[in-house]
Amino acid sequence: MTAPLLTVDQLTKRFGGFVALDQVSLQVAQGERLGLIGPNGSGKSTLVNCISGTVPISSGRVLLDRERIDRLPPHRRAQLGLVRSFQLPRPFGSLTIADNLKVAMLYAGKPSSDSIHDLLALLGLEDKAGRLPRELTQIEMRKLELARAMAANPRLLIVDEVMAGLSHAEVDEIVELLLRLNEAGVTIVMIEHIMRAVMAFSQRLVCIVAGRKVADGDPREVTGDAHVLKAYLGE
Ligand code: ADP
Ligand code: MG
Repeated sequence: MTAPLLTVDQLTKRFGGFVALDQVSLQVAQGERLGLIGPNGSGKSTLVNCISGTVPISSGRVLLDRERIDRLPPHRRAQLGLVRSFQLPRPFGSLTIADNLKVAMLYAGKPSSDSIHDLLALLGLEDKAGRLPRELTQIEMRKLELARAMAANPRLLIVDEVMAGLSHAEVDEIVELLLRLNEAGVTIVMIEHIMRAVMAFSQRLVCIVAGRKVADGDPREVTGDAHVLKAYLGE
């Protein structure tokens, strides 16, 4: 049994007196595709923020390989291969698509010009290299966001609702893209409300309800779990 790539151990996050995450523990294996689900406000994005370092944890531990990373600033975690894609794409508006990827590579401490073209091709953006972000369509913007994340050469990529607002066919396209990135060796955690996408993508599901992990396992079993059904059906 190989060591997990990511370990979240008894993580608690409080905002003032409000407990957003309550003793959450989970592991992500090298090469895995994990889906993270739960109702709005259940703490999914907060968990991503705690893992990537944009908010400090209240207690518990976060480990990449077997090293504690929960005191490191976000850019250090990114350098170690922990990269997240933001819920709202925010590339530099005055830079071309290619230059936005260059900046993303520099941020992660992995400057390399030769791979920009490969990355654009992998994401299907090869003819957009010289364009500005505002010239892209909605799905091209999502691809740019994924490309910026991939530019940091992630070992673990966390995507937080990158499919919201896309058409049925576009959602399928992004799922295919994420499957390709995973085949290329990237471990991926997907947070998503579109269950069709979650089920097509995930090898395992974790469900969080009101800051607590209520299920963790096979996607079909998790979606049939009484706690999960209750949370989604709201009864
Ligand atoms: P999800 O991503 O599952 O929809 P979030 O992680 O965004 O949920 O939010 C979980 C809870 O934590 C919500 O009640 C939200 O209002 C609260 N929360 C998130 N960030 C903050 C913050 N910076 N300050 C105070 N409360 C927050
Ligand atoms: Mg969220």
